[in-house]
Amino acid sequence: MRIKLYNMMEKVVEDALADVLQQSNHVCDCEECKVDIMAIALNHLPPKYVGTRKGEVFTKLNTLSNQFNSDAVIEITKAIDIVNKKPNHEKL
Ligand SMILES: [Zn+2]
Repeated sequence: MRIKLYNMMEKVVEDALADVLQQSNHVCDCEECKVDIMAIALNHLPPKYVGTRKGEVFTKLNTLSNQFNSDAVIEITKAIDIVNKKPNHEKL
């Protein structure tokens, strides 16, 4: 298949998470916690699938990202709370 299905929400959440983490300094930002936070947030957000050719996804994203960014931030904030209280690893 030349055109791939892609859940745009993944990128929206990834970008929004980077922003949120930059503004909060008491959140563990290791790979493990980030993936956990993204997984929890994505499970609470409706997926937004788009068909994309190579390289096309980011153009579409820019237009749609703003639309879903605030939803993503809300779910990320909740997810950070959950992961912060119960991280999947020992406290560093
Ligand atoms: Zn961590």
